[in-house]
Amino acid sequence: MTLPAHDTTVTYPAGELVARATVLHTAPAGDGLIAVITDTTPFHPVDAAWPDQPADAGTLRTSTGEVPIRDAVVAATDGTDLHLGGDIPVRKGTEGWVFVVAHLVDAGTAVAEGDQVEIEADAATRRALSLGHTACHAASLALNRAVEGRWSKPARTDALGRPDFDGIAIASSRIEPFGSVDRYRLNKSLRRAGFDAADLADGLDALADTVSGTVGEWIAAGSAVRVEREGDGLTDRRSWVAELPGGTARIACGGTHADSLAELGAVRVEFELVDDAGTPVLEMRTRVDAAS
Ligand SMILES: [Zn+2]
Repeated sequence: MTLPAHDTTVTYPAGELVARATVLHTAPAGDGLIAVITDTTPFHPVDAAWPDQPADAGTLRTSTGEVPIRDAVVAATDGTDLHLGGDIPVRKGTEGWVFVVAHLVDAGTAVAEGDQVEIEADAATRRALSLGHTACHAASLALNRAVEGRWSKPARTDALGRPDFDGIAIASSRIEPFGSVDRYRLNKSLRRAGFDAADLADGLDALADTVSGTVGEWIAAGSAVRVEREGDGLTDRRSWVAELPGGTARIACGGTHADSLAELGAVRVEFELVDDAGTPVLEMRTRVDAAS
């Protein structure tokens, strides 16, 4: 069996849900699953290096039937072995390595190299995650604005020219259906960089009101959102771009998104200060109410 020589072509950044594809490779993936690699896919995989948006849900159709895709992960090969998810030993973009989407289906599925298949991502799941991801980026920019006054030294700036608290302090970001959870480390290096976290705990509700209010203004303005891409390969650079009232915001992002902040309906964030092995962590939970 030959291993893929090119990054998988991905169509989910353009909002696609269905694609016909050619199977390039299959391999055992453990846990009673096999990995199916195709030339192209509309299926968003989870990236072990920065696992913010989970994989799509959906199905793989072969000439003999339809099977559920149990998960999809980013995989990589140097031409000798296929490494799945967290087993990838190199950074994305490393020369000589090809990065692909591995669709995981039950072992025993009749699918082989050269087969023509159809891959379909579930529309409702995709939409819920896209809304959650768009809200996540909007909330992060609104948070940067809300804590702007806490910086006493010049800091790296965000897409709107403010000190980038989100980019500097982020420890993890998890996209959920209709929401997200972002965790920010309020550690010594952040304080040394000039961020004053002193009485933050006393004003978490007010902070939530401010951030929710800012996102609400952007939603009311009907800010358009798009995904810009430098190419259609899995590792080609992509950006979330939003036309906000304060300017055009651009954030490097490999996920899927709504076409407008207006689709979010309403967004509410909540904050909690938690402890992670002695380091205070600010947790921001963002919820979308697309129905309102
Ligand atoms: Zn993103």
